[in-house]
Amino acid sequence: MNRNKIELPTAGLSGDTVIARLRELKEGDVSWRNGRIFGYIYHPGDREAKVIEQAYHMFCNENALNPSLFSSLRKLENETVAMVAGLLHAGDDYAGNMTTGGSESILVAVKTARDHARKHKPEVTHPEMIAPVTIHPAFSKAAAITGIKVRYAHAGEDKRVDVADLEKLINRNTILITASAPCFPYGVIDPIEELGEAALKNGLLFHVDSCLGGLMLPFLEDLGYKLPRSDFRVKGVTSVSADVHKYGYAPKGASVIIYRSHEIRRFQYFVMSSWPGGLYASPTMLGTRSGAPMAAAWAALITIGRDGYVRMADAVMKSTSAIKSGIESIPGLKIIADPAMSIFAFTSEKHDIFRIGDELAKRGWNLDKLQFPSALHMTVSFHNTGHEDEFLAALKDAVADVEGDKIQKVYSHVLISTVKAMSKFLPVKWFRKITSGFTGSEKKPEKGAATSGAAAYAMMMAIDNRENVEDIMLDVLDKLYTL
Ligand SMILES: *Cc1c(COP(=O)(O)O)cnc(C)c1O
Repeated sequence: MNRNKIELPTAGLSGDTVIARLRELKEGDVSWRNGRIFGYIYHPGDREAKVIEQAYHMFCNENALNPSLFSSLRKLENETVAMVAGLLHAGDDYAGNMTTGGSESILVAVKTARDHARKHKPEVTHPEMIAPVTIHPAFSKAAAITGIKVRYAHAGEDKRVDVADLEKLINRNTILITASAPCFPYGVIDPIEELGEAALKNGLLFHVDSCLGGLMLPFLEDLGYKLPRSDFRVKGVTSVSADVHKYGYAPKGASVIIYRSHEIRRFQYFVMSSWPGGLYASPTMLGTRSGAPMAAAWAALITIGRDGYVRMADAVMKSTSAIKSGIESIPGLKIIADPAMSIFAFTSEKHDIFRIGDELAKRGWNLDKLQFPSALHMTVSFHNTGHEDEFLAALKDAVADVEGDKIQKVYSHVLISTVKAMSKFLPVKWFRKITSGFTGSEKKPEKGAATSGAAAYAMMMAIDNRENVEDIMLDVLDKLYTL
């Protein structure tokens, strides 16, 4: 294999050279400052960001692995958890930790549930958890790692999990129920109160994924929005995850996991007393833990403050509402379900929605694609506010372009139905060939635009055998992370 070679430079490069190289690399990134990407970026504005970034720099060498050496970090972590616990109405016996993100919070919550069951339900030999189909993939990942089986419950018309369907999946191996407040795909809040009752009735742990909502829903309540309860006020909820690096507007690497009681959290920990290296104790998944995201998250919470969060939440909701009504006023476009906050998806029965996504990307607006049904996704955060009119103008243009291009429409229709028909009997090798052209990393995408995805994505969706799709996805990952 002819590999590109990058070697460690013999003599270190000057600071100026290093920074210049980083600047150059960064030029190829999407520019988010113009408010044209949704999700991924949560920025509170330059004044707050300055303080937060200073906090980050101040603690980038400190290590939370040893809380007795860095008592500052222990305090920063405990205070951050306490502030979020307050927002989520956790009771006096709450216990929690900071993690590096939603996925880690979810992983430790699932691990905790498994070990809690090992102690309290030793009769369970094949533990299972139940999740709505809309739950974040981090739960599937956590289940794969911890050896728990996931049973998926259907969503109703309103995209919230169907409680009756979920209850049917409870059996003697069930140890955990999970739900979202709100879920990523459609931004709706699962019926947490009813699920809480089901959890209590069946003696199960119940985790609420409030990674997106944890630092948004409390401020919407302040603003007078009528929302169903989805936190520790609901009896039966035993743990909640909330990402400070999303609507908490902290730099990446900051999430919080909170349990109803110390007794439950105990099962999260890992300790080892027989290692020659000493007594080893670690609260979460990581060993060495950077102090930077902790200090920055703490700084974000206290420099923005309740008033700041309420003000940003208000701006985000006004922006969301303008974008949603703009979308609904375009014939053929439709918002899916009734999103609770600032996350939603829209679809079309009239147009090829993915091609609208591609046309938007050409104009510099990057929206994620969803499947079953095909849809485009939006997470509106503070840096998007004020750009509603530009976005809606670009969307109208994109729809008009797709509508006018009848030939492309017939072409993609034929292509997709061919793939659908052939996917039943053609081997995966064949699909790898045709999709590698779209998904390989050889072709450099246009600056600031996502790789043209409509055709590749539609084709992946048309393949009936999802294992084949997963094979192709593994190929893509392998290519992406090979120099
Ligand atoms: C982002 C997100 C997660 C995962 O969080 P990461 O920080 O990306 O690891 C989990 N659940 C929901 C609803 C999310 O939006």
